Amino acid sequence: MQIIESILTKNPCYTAGRTITVKGLMLHSVGCPQPNAQVFIQNWNRPDYKNACVHGFIDGNTGIIYQTLPWNHRGWHGGGSSNNTHIGVEMCEPSCIKYTQGSSFTCSDKAAAQASVKKTYNAAVELFAMLCKKYNLNPMKDIVSHREGHAIGIATNHGDPEHLWKGVGLNYTMDGFRADVKYTMESEDEKPMTTEERTKFNKLVDAVGTLAEKVDKLEHKMIYAWVDDNMPEWAKPTITKLINKGYLKGDEEGKLNIDDNMLRMLVINDRAGIYGE
Ligand SMILES: [Zn+2]
Repeated sequence: MQIIESILTKNPCYTAGRTITVKGLMLHSVGCPQPNAQVFIQNWNRPDYKNACVHGFIDGNTGIIYQTLPWNHRGWHGGGSSNNTHIGVEMCEPSCIKYTQGSSFTCSDKAAAQASVKKTYNAAVELFAMLCKKYNLNPMKDIVSHREGHAIGIATNHGDPEHLWKGVGLNYTMDGFRADVKYTMESEDEKPMTTEERTKFNKLVDAVGTLAEKVDKLEHKMIYAWVDDNMPEWAKPTITKLINKGYLKGDEEGKLNIDDNMLRMLVINDRAGIYGE
């Protein structure tokens, strides 16, 4: 997914400066045979363009997404109350179609039209997955088309973009679109780590392991009760000597209960000759 920021700063909708709490996403298609998003951007980025303003255009040749409003800016895309709640994104339409009446069109090159529509559809799926995550939206509930928006009374009477999908002979539906967005969100969550991420992760695991060992040693200090296999070899002669001399007696059971630090200190003292031969 490639997003190019291209904010329509001269459009009166942008200069109105209103923001919204994003509660949903509305999918549109432009309703004219113009695949080039730049053409819309140039036409709409004018102070006298008072008809409409959307959050993005998806180019019908490249699938590149042009973000034309900050995502939480109030747009003029759906008419009705959807402008107060929904982000609106336009998919550009293939050049080989010709509108006849309303949302009906003829298509001179079905293969080319389908290729273009597939590009914008796939880019829209990725974009909507990103926006659903960004705004914590449920893709199955919070995504509508302009057509569906009208059906539930939050948008003006348009047929986009389903008319486009149907008109070029693709079996895309809004239910399918929502499912594709959901699937994309879930598969993105499961993406395997890159080599770089894996290296970093392994280093972190090692560091935590070392730390855990240190903590374990602190919490479970080695206490030596007897001169046995547990006791380090370097300490055995000193401790044996101290027991034989009667300096070390242990508790009532004869357990020495000496920790590492004490062991070290006794050996140092012994080497210094404090306990004699
Ligand atoms: Zn629309």
